[in-house]
Amino acid sequence: MSQVSSSSSLASQSQFNQDLLNFIQTSPTAFHAAQAIAKELAAAGFTELRESDEWDLLPGKRYYLKRNESSVIAFVYGKKDLLSTGIRMLGAHTDSPCLKVKPQPELNRKGYLQLGVEVYGGALLAPWFDRDLSLAGRVTYKTSDNKIASSLLDFKTPVASVPSLAIHLDREVNNARTINPQRDIIPVLLQLAPEQTLAPNFKSILLAQLKLENPELDATHVLDYEISLYDTQAPGLIGLQQDFIASARLDNLLSCFVGLRALLQADVEVSSLLICTDHEEVGSTSCCGAKGPMLQQFLERLIPDTETRIRIIERSLLISADNAHGVHPNFSDRHDENHGPLLNRGPVVKINANQRYATTSETSGFFHWLCEQNEVPVQVFVARTDMGCGSTIGPIVSSEVGVKTIDVGVPTFAMHSIREMAGVADAYYLYRVAIAFYQYPLFLSFS
Ligand SMILES: [Zn+2]
Repeated sequence: MSQVSSSSSLASQSQFNQDLLNFIQTSPTAFHAAQAIAKELAAAGFTELRESDEWDLLPGKRYYLKRNESSVIAFVYGKKDLLSTGIRMLGAHTDSPCLKVKPQPELNRKGYLQLGVEVYGGALLAPWFDRDLSLAGRVTYKTSDNKIASSLLDFKTPVASVPSLAIHLDREVNNARTINPQRDIIPVLLQLAPEQTLAPNFKSILLAQLKLENPELDATHVLDYEISLYDTQAPGLIGLQQDFIASARLDNLLSCFVGLRALLQADVEVSSLLICTDHEEVGSTSCCGAKGPMLQQFLERLIPDTETRIRIIERSLLISADNAHGVHPNFSDRHDENHGPLLNRGPVVKINANQRYATTSETSGFFHWLCEQNEVPVQVFVARTDMGCGSTIGPIVSSEVGVKTIDVGVPTFAMHSIREMAGVADAYYLYRVAIAFYQYPLFLSFS
């Protein structure tokens, strides 16, 4: 690579990373992520479909749809016959582990308003202490003409914290710390006035915030909500040479963003699809999760004839993109000695003999070939044989729809922490491969 093209590619990578960080910043919840994805798609000329409407899909056009406001499918309907091209699919998830506010959350203890929370997904709890937290999510309310409506809400400013207990009051904390999720991680929101005995009602707080964010909003009272806490520290580049990205929700908004930006580059000759689903961190079983019927129903409406649909799915491929574990320099024995992916050394193909990842030698071979063609380095992960292994939407979608699948992702540290780390080069590497994938001209035949 010449000096000029190398520096221009570095500039593109840096712009891409900046856009990625902005995307994560505006997406504190799965609802906001789906909204941000939909906004970019609409701005790029994709037409929104409503699942309750009748559809008349036309080759050469681009579409998207949302379900539950937290999952999105975007589709480029190629001009070429689907039987001659198949569909290139890329999947990721919009949700991340977090603390979710309980339905009747108000606690008034020692004159502090606190909120009861549930743990959503496999959160690493220790990093939630002593952070400047905010609240965001979806609120469902009644309007003045007795209708039910929902809006997204984001307090944006730090409105809560979970203070640690001082080491003086727990001398053993550095040797034997456990975290009880019912007792230890209840955030503090405000201090009541000395004469105040009644803690403010959380739904009233939400109603006031809704009206603050949108003074025109017609809401008489809040019926219910799905609100979670998030860290207000902005995502950023860190390290002496800025080798790393530090941010919440890199798992898996990074892959959603990579898929989105790659799909925006896809031409309309061949058919390409992006699916970003909610509820992966809790098993994907929901109306809008990968284990639900969202993708299958979309494909049935796109290709109503069963035999034709099966033939097209057989000629298609899904890249399931979800972050991988980079080998941690302090804990390198947690990886198999031959399979420890490094940050900034390219996307990782994830393999598991017990089908926790859906990768096969054919799909992996294709991905390796695609990386080779585009001069992108590629790494391989397999868990230690004496340790369990995570999973992704890959095996779920693959078994629901029957599409050949490969599990890949960028290597990260601190997965499921409130602040995760990735390499500055890897998201852009994966993006370049995803662009090439969406432009691959033929159906995927391995025979
Ligand atoms: Zn994930």
